[in-house]
Amino acid sequence: MSSKNLFGRRKLFPPPLPRTNGAGVNLETPLAETDVVPLPRARQLERFGIATVGALLLHFPRRYEDRTQFDHFPAETGDQAVCVCGVVKKTTMRRVRGGQRMFDVLLEEENAGAFGGRLVCRWFNSHWVEKMIAQGHVLVVHGKPKLSGTNVVITHPEFEVVEDDAEQSIHLKRIVPIHAATEGLSPRLIRRIVWDVLERLEDEMVEQLVPAALDRMPRAWALRQMHFPKSQGDLAKARKHLVLEEFLAMQLALSAKRAELKSERGEPHCGPGELVRKLHESLPFPLTRAQQRVIAEIRDDLASPRPMNRLLHGDVGSGKTLVAMSAMLRCVEAGFQAALMAPTQILAEQHFLNFRRLLEPLGIRVSLRTGARKEDAGEMALFSATNPQVPGVVFAAGRREQHASRVPHPGGGAGAPLQAFAANEPHIFIGTHALLYDGAGISRLGLAVIDEQHKFGVMQRARLRGDGAVPDVLVMTATPIPRTLTMTLYGDLDVSTLDEMPPGRGRIVTLVRPPEKLPDAVKFIRTQLDEGRQAYIVYPLVEESERVEAKAATAEFAKWSEMLAPMKCALLHGRVPPEEKDAVMAAFRRADTKALIATTVIEVGVDVPNANVMLIENAERFGLAQIHQLRGRIGRGAHKSYCVLLTTGDDAEALEKLRILEKTGDGFEIAEADLRLRGPGDLLGTAQSGLAPLRLGDLFADADLMKLARNHAFLIFERDPKLELPENAGCRTLLAENRRAVLSQVS
Ligand code: ADP
Ligand code: MG
Repeated sequence: MSSKNLFGRRKLFPPPLPRTNGAGVNLETPLAETDVVPLPRARQLERFGIATVGALLLHFPRRYEDRTQFDHFPAETGDQAVCVCGVVKKTTMRRVRGGQRMFDVLLEEENAGAFGGRLVCRWFNSHWVEKMIAQGHVLVVHGKPKLSGTNVVITHPEFEVVEDDAEQSIHLKRIVPIHAATEGLSPRLIRRIVWDVLERLEDEMVEQLVPAALDRMPRAWALRQMHFPKSQGDLAKARKHLVLEEFLAMQLALSAKRAELKSERGEPHCGPGELVRKLHESLPFPLTRAQQRVIAEIRDDLASPRPMNRLLHGDVGSGKTLVAMSAMLRCVEAGFQAALMAPTQILAEQHFLNFRRLLEPLGIRVSLRTGARKEDAGEMALFSATNPQVPGVVFAAGRREQHASRVPHPGGGAGAPLQAFAANEPHIFIGTHALLYDGAGISRLGLAVIDEQHKFGVMQRARLRGDGAVPDVLVMTATPIPRTLTMTLYGDLDVSTLDEMPPGRGRIVTLVRPPEKLPDAVKFIRTQLDEGRQAYIVYPLVEESERVEAKAATAEFAKWSEMLAPMKCALLHGRVPPEEKDAVMAAFRRADTKALIATTVIEVGVDVPNANVMLIENAERFGLAQIHQLRGRIGRGAHKSYCVLLTTGDDAEALEKLRILEKTGDGFEIAEADLRLRGPGDLLGTAQSGLAPLRLGDLFADADLMKLARNHAFLIFERDPKLELPENAGCRTLLAENRRAVLSQVS
């Protein structure tokens, strides 16, 4: 069956312009080689990243205008955009305040007689618009109307001048695609080019990528309908087909990665558990059931020769560090080294102190590695993300060891395994990115733990390899990940969840308040400080420029020092040099300073149980999940804790959003809400996930399609892991294209 018939386009609309030779094109044809796209246009599109017919057709419209039925001319202000068509009665240019040019176009509803509406389209300082529009023109405009005096005005609408009748079959009387425009290429021009290219497309040459079992529509039909839909129903069907295609590509890539990981050579890194038992006995509290469960899950992975690739997520304060420590201890006990990577220096140092405190009594040597990243060393030292064929050059030349704990060797009674280590050789490394570039002293890495992975990116962890076998990898994140996403983006990882908080945590009361309440908040903070508690004051960064940042910080600091005097305040932000940062944190931990004025550098991991108040200014600028992380810094001791969110109350939506934080302390619930409100980008940084970015599909709204695609990808890989069967040829193509997209994204 030819899908040309399905589309029925040729019968309806003869090609608008006679063409000389009319050779057919397929998706691989470079635009420059089609005889329908003028060469200069083809070059322009190429600069826009669109070089072939296929790329052009995957440049989907960003919205559609139904020009079969225009809206009536609006009579009042509305918050929905309208799309109307009318005749230009008059144009006027006036100078207004400050010498701005104001260009008004009076539009009248066509053929509507005496009852026809009128509308003013208004532009400021837009010479190019002035040149394009004249009396008598027919205009299609799109924008939000606003009643201004007696006129309804649309300011800076999107518009098109309807030129001649020959073009009308493309630009009028149909559902019209509005493509994203670029310098010199208007939506109208792109629409025309897409139309002309579709005229020449040979549908038989378009490979079917989605298996018929998932969706029966022909791909060529879907591509055509996506640009020039015959009806809203057809558009929905076309979109569904193409979203499935996109999701299937993603799920095939994840399945392929999983299969590849499974085939990697690993080895067991699991000691008998004597050290872990001692560690747990030394703790002043019992482990939560969730911790016990997850520690066991990880133990099983460590014991297996298959390389571990596990994601551990749990709310702030759920006790992830202890889980990591237990795993690392088992690994050390088996005669291997273990490393923990933190996203910031402060966190690395805090982990270091913590590890030393708990592990030195067991005879474990812990070493800290931080320091500036060596740019020229590239990422190849520990990680080689893109080329699995090249055995990782393992450990870059040595850099200085910054601190190493001194422990007599071998550890008291830890038994034979620790004797596998040379005297003074560290058992455990704690560090920042520096660990990626500086592997000196790490010769037998058995386990790498990556804390707060969203800062690292999945590509980096993708391939952590040593001399021989691949080490086990545990990735930890405090951003609880909604189930919708664990199953999609993390499909290549095993996932463990710490879904239980240790008992006896002080409760956090969260309050959303307008900025006028600042004095009350200050009074409240003062009473808490008087009682011996400590506070965090978080202010948002207005800009990222260094000078502005420093200035904002200084101003904030002066303001708060005065308001909280005579209590001592300290300042912490991203530009504070590392040594100073250390000193600031140490003083705060000792309660020498009572209030820490800070940016979000305190977001993750900082642990001072005596701090029980947090005030966040301009809270509306933060994401919910981020505020939830921030407030996880308090509520760590026995004292009741308070989180005050100051926000300008004029945005109802922002307020509603923040109220969620007043209502719940459950990170999973909050993450889910954040995902709904802001989309997944923020949460995951799709660019870091090692997956091609989505063009069309929406992880949340299209979750059902994702489920379909996922199940299907699993089935395909189960039956045909190499994708050799003829019916899986389309899947093979999808996978190859996904790889290409990821690579081009990385480079
Ligand atoms: P996160 O999951 O946010 O990284 P941490 O590992 O930093 O949490 O743990 C937060 C605090 O809770 C630490 O002070 C830690 O010692 C403590 N903690 C961990 N597990 C337990 C437990 N089972 N009972 C009580 N306190 C615990
Ligand atoms: Mg942590």
